[in-house]
Amino acid sequence: MAKNVVIVGGGHNGLVCACYLAKAGFSVTVLERRDILGGAAVTEEFHPGFRNSVASYTVSLLHPQVIDDLQLHSHGLEILERPINNFLPLPDDNSLTSFPDPVAMQTEVARFSRKDSNQLPVFHDALDSVVQVLKDLMTEIPPKLHGGNIGDLWSLFRVSKKFNRLSLDEKQHLLRLFSSSAGELLDDEFESDPLKALIGFDSIVGHFASPYQSGSAYVLLHHVLGEVNGKPGRWGHARGGMGSITGAMAAQAAALGVQMVTDASVSAIKTDNGKVTCVELKSGESIPANIVVSNVNPKLLFLDLLEEQDVSSTTTEHFRRYKCQSGTFRMNVALSELPRFTAMTPENALTGGIILAPDLDYMDMAYRDALDYGYSRKPVVEMLIPSLVDDSLAPAGAHVASLFCQQFNPNLGSGWKDQKAAAADAIISTVTKYAPNFRSSIIGSKVLSPFDLETEFGLVGGDIFHGRLSLDQLFSARPMLGSGQYATEITNLYMCGAGTHPGGGVSGLPGYNAARKIISDH
Ligand SMILES: Cc1cc2nc3c(=O)[nH]c(=O)nc-3n(C[C@H](O)[C@H](O)[C@H](O)COP(=O)(O)OP(=O)(O)OC[C@H]3O[C@@H](n4cnc5c(N)ncnc54)[C@H](O)[C@@H]3O)c2cc1C
Repeated sequence: MAKNVVIVGGGHNGLVCACYLAKAGFSVTVLERRDILGGAAVTEEFHPGFRNSVASYTVSLLHPQVIDDLQLHSHGLEILERPINNFLPLPDDNSLTSFPDPVAMQTEVARFSRKDSNQLPVFHDALDSVVQVLKDLMTEIPPKLHGGNIGDLWSLFRVSKKFNRLSLDEKQHLLRLFSSSAGELLDDEFESDPLKALIGFDSIVGHFASPYQSGSAYVLLHHVLGEVNGKPGRWGHARGGMGSITGAMAAQAAALGVQMVTDASVSAIKTDNGKVTCVELKSGESIPANIVVSNVNPKLLFLDLLEEQDVSSTTTEHFRRYKCQSGTFRMNVALSELPRFTAMTPENALTGGIILAPDLDYMDMAYRDALDYGYSRKPVVEMLIPSLVDDSLAPAGAHVASLFCQQFNPNLGSGWKDQKAAAADAIISTVTKYAPNFRSSIIGSKVLSPFDLETEFGLVGGDIFHGRLSLDQLFSARPMLGSGQYATEITNLYMCGAGTHPGGGVSGLPGYNAARKIISDH
């Protein structure tokens, strides 16, 4: 008889894992706490007639292997490329636009610094060689560096072979990217503040830290590992929003016979003799399982869903200290008209991610303010207006925008209930400074503080990646040394969420890797 698998959480990784397992002959049930599948990758109507990707909002990391294997395009998924990568309006009404075409980009940068314009291709070439190796590692099940066996030695050998492809210079560069700060790296490479801001912005996305804090360079790297329609490093938009991705995944899961249940909040995972036996729902129902796969943040799994006596004290202690702290604040706004920026605005500029943070010092200051006051009166904002490339989201002539804002102190916890309105106002004021018609164009909104991200989406500390992307929480150590291979210390209990390798973002890879591990174990 087919082994019965219960997946706790219907986020995109849970759905991906479900598809691969069902295809391999397992009998799979997905239990999702919300009334909608997709986790942080969903499209919702947040104001009458206006729909948006209310949390995660732009695509690049979604792996082509997952797209093909799950036949996402045949289930209606269409990914539209952003005509412009990014647009950085500046306080003096100048602006820097990131064009996909490398020559156009060099010409643009030359307006600020000829030296930087010449350095840009050198910087990208150095990054590309490292990116290729890291991309290869994303589909690897990391070797076990504690308590491993001969298979792990073989895996370690394969990993080191990949690193050995790099020249000495490239290895040195990789080391810098893993250990240094984005600020330090960019100060070494470039002289123009707007260019450093444009590139360095990614180093604080979902990472509550100064761009001058060690480790932030890796976060920057994490954001350039993807591609859109075969074009490396690009970001795009799923027509119909991120819910089209998870909708296509759910359609494939249904076609493979996966049972998906919403409004099914799991309250406990039960074990007997160190082996999983069943999951219990908040409703009181108990569902027997041969195998349980957790799509939720590992902190939730080990500290909330499992009984304390079922987990070793080392593991409990590890997850008490496991860091979850994106520091992100997310607004969705319905707009009666497009924002009109006072800064120089090239054609199509508003189709890119609009970054409001003119230099790295501004990002650093916003972080320091957040430590002192919870958030900065001068917040770091990225605005994306998906309705410019997708007319399915808003009524004709109107628009929706995602405001993804960084450096909002996650440690405020429920204190965000009191601060939320003022923080949202500071964000709106910031955008309005650059585009004076912005405030008056807002006709509806959905605002998510770090606390809302936790209570509504189950993201501990509002962490968009299910755990900080720092060296101590990456690869074989994600989420913990000895459990970085999707299996846990409890027999037949696995993990498949963003808290496992290769981490957060809508990639589908934790789900894909976890499924391969489960299939090989059983
Ligand atoms: C505001 C925001 C913006 C982001 N922007 C981007 C972006 O633009 N591009 C990108 O690639 N990534 C982005 N991300 C990151 C990305 O969305 C996440 O890393 C990714 O979606 C995680 O997927 P997952 O399936 O591992 O987990 P999740 O999506 O978190 O899914 C876990 C699921 O488990 C459910 N769950 C929790 N507890 C229980 C329980 N007890 N019982 C049953 N179900 C439970 C949750 O409701 C949820 O549906 C963003 C995230 C956020 C929050």
